[in-house]
Amino acid sequence: MTVYSGPVFEMAARQFNVIADHLGIPLDERDRILMPKRSITVSCPIHRDDGTVAVFEGYRVQHLLTMGPTKGGTRFAPSVDIGEVAALATWMSWKCALVGLPYGGAKGGVNVDLSKLSRRELEALSRRYMQELIPFVGPHTDVMAPDMGTNEQVMAWFMDTYSMYQGRTVTEIVTGKPVFSGGTLGRREATGRGVAYLAGRVIKELNIAPGDATAVIQGFGNVGSHAALELRQLGVKIIAVSNSTSALYDPAGLDIPALVRHVAAQGSLATFSRELAFDPAELLTLPCTVLVPAARERAIDATMAAKLRCRVLAEAANGPTTPEADLVLDKRQDEIFVIPDVLCNSGGVIVSYFEWVQDLQQLFWEEGEVMRREYQILDRAFDQMLSRARADNVSHRTAAMAIGVEKVRATKNVRGLFP
Ligand code: GLU
Repeated sequence: MTVYSGPVFEMAARQFNVIADHLGIPLDERDRILMPKRSITVSCPIHRDDGTVAVFEGYRVQHLLTMGPTKGGTRFAPSVDIGEVAALATWMSWKCALVGLPYGGAKGGVNVDLSKLSRRELEALSRRYMQELIPFVGPHTDVMAPDMGTNEQVMAWFMDTYSMYQGRTVTEIVTGKPVFSGGTLGRREATGRGVAYLAGRVIKELNIAPGDATAVIQGFGNVGSHAALELRQLGVKIIAVSNSTSALYDPAGLDIPALVRHVAAQGSLATFSRELAFDPAELLTLPCTVLVPAARERAIDATMAAKLRCRVLAEAANGPTTPEADLVLDKRQDEIFVIPDVLCNSGGVIVSYFEWVQDLQQLFWEEGEVMRREYQILDRAFDQMLSRARADNVSHRTAAMAIGVEKVRATKNVRGLFP
């Protein structure tokens, strides 16, 4: 038992042990690589609109301080606990190492049901959370970003709160900010764009014409909606999308731009069309070319993995596939091409890195430059993953995570154990 014990951290630990076994990492070296270096729990009191005081529990886990500053998003959701945040932080470490960013992984979150907060309360909570963490973060210590339940506005409040305490504007303290407040062009789209870019590359390599391909997308937040828009740009037909409460299915193809506009205006997927409503529980098993889980971790367990009917599984969410599901997918390698999460959704943190670099230099890039560099990094990591999977005769996930874990291990070993 550790403070992180729970289903999500246990899943991350099991995944790590598969990699550690593959790499032959001795047992006494494993905890040094896996266990988070620092975890901070804070109480965030705010004034509610009715005059009462409410206290929310917040966390920040800095998994790995060896590689440079830590980097990762902040999640505002009712599921958030220290174990989930720690698991997400470890995945950030393997992801950053795989794609070659000078960061260790981190993640943060607040346990909160956003549907019960007014905009003023959300601002108060965002500011108080950042204020509580000021002693532990910094542009060269730990750089936050958006994740589930947070967005550009929340990042602007984080940045403003930190800056007010420093007495100057410190844009480089968070990424994913609005473009006109030190954000970068292409950050909002970056994760979904990367998912679509890699899925597009895979379907081309499988000799499937994009015009003949279909996609199903679970989750229609920032990542899912941009993945849908970008896949559509490539010519892929999006036949189904869902969020946590509803799903839409149209074998003729959904009008994604209209759906994005509808969700932005109404805040609801369900009200887009009654005729196209579909059971969200059935979504993942629809036959399609590309399946994009872009919602929560552990959406695909062993039973679900056996039922998938996609050709490509493009993991846009963090940790959507359990280790038991991986065993099933390993047997289905010839049927389903897996683009594992640490690679598939890494476009987000790659462009966050570009945002941080631009803020530090106060030199801003064109969107085309951001996209060109994002795709270059994704292509390189994809090539490395494929050759490693072939050389070691392992799954794409094992190959991708092994590359990340190996870099972390090598850096820890060459730096040595202090004192
Ligand atoms: N929350 C995103 C992720 O899971 C982005 C993190 C970042 O941009 O730092 O990768």
